[in-house]
Amino acid sequence: MIKDILLKGKIVALTGAGMSEESGISTFRGKGGIWERYNPAIYANIPGLSFTFIIRPHKVIDFIVDFYEPILNAEPNPGHLALAKLEENGALNSIITQNVDDLHTKAGNKVVIELHGNMFRFRCMRCSNKRKLDKKELTELLSKLEKNRNSRLAITKFFVPCKCGRRMRPDVVLFGESLPEAELKLAYKEIENCNTLLLVGTSGVVYPAAYLPAYAKERGKPIVEINPERTKFSEFADYFIAGKAGEVLPQILQEYSL
Ligand code: NAD
Repeated sequence: MIKDILLKGKIVALTGAGMSEESGISTFRGKGGIWERYNPAIYANIPGLSFTFIIRPHKVIDFIVDFYEPILNAEPNPGHLALAKLEENGALNSIITQNVDDLHTKAGNKVVIELHGNMFRFRCMRCSNKRKLDKKELTELLSKLEKNRNSRLAITKFFVPCKCGRRMRPDVVLFGESLPEAELKLAYKEIENCNTLLLVGTSGVVYPAAYLPAYAKERGKPIVEINPERTKFSEFADYFIAGKAGEVLPQILQEYSL
């Protein structure tokens, strides 16, 4: 029974873009997703972005603003809040997320492993110093960008200065870049130590995050998947719950609290 599995506690949740869909952030590949408007072969990697920056800087500015806008305005949905409550009452050990929207932390979760970074955090391109900006600071940066849509200089100003003198870029993993090693190691360790892996809103098309469920399965960890659609994980998941994260997770929380 799914309830018995979950009641054993030590749950680790692996979350993807579907987790935040009910917070108003489209999944990249879903309807209305950003890859419908911007070709990922160009906009999701440094060479493509750099080339576009040289020939059409306004397109890069549009992309940055479009990418940030929903994330800046999003709030945790009932699914995020249920995971925070599950951590608070001791059932959930940690969250491993592919999301870059900061919503798990905003919801109150303390152990959040961000495999693909965080859009609110900037990282120095020389000394790797990191700095998190708040919504107000980012909104100001973006509005300056929008006002200067055709200026290459405006983009360089979006890359905030670091105390070492170089500039900082959003601390997110683009296509072709490596995942942060420490986070990935920690993710594997969390899976080794868990009783159950909960998969929420991830299609499993992005690697190496998509290896994690197989790693759990090999170690005999039960897998519970929550997704409105079946995915490549559904076949080997022990339980597939068809539904939205914001509806199913509060029900699980309720069951756990009984
Ligand atoms: P994906 O876009 O490939 O798949 C999303 C999955 O979520 C699909 O299987 C879909 O059926 C499911 N889904 C849609 N609505 C849902 C809901 N309400 N509840 C539960 N599931 C729902 O996403 P992915 O597997 O996470 O990989 C895409 C990459 O895009 C990741 O690397 C991630 O970093 C990035 N991304 C992040 C955000 C974000 O930070 N919010 C948003 C879009 C994409």
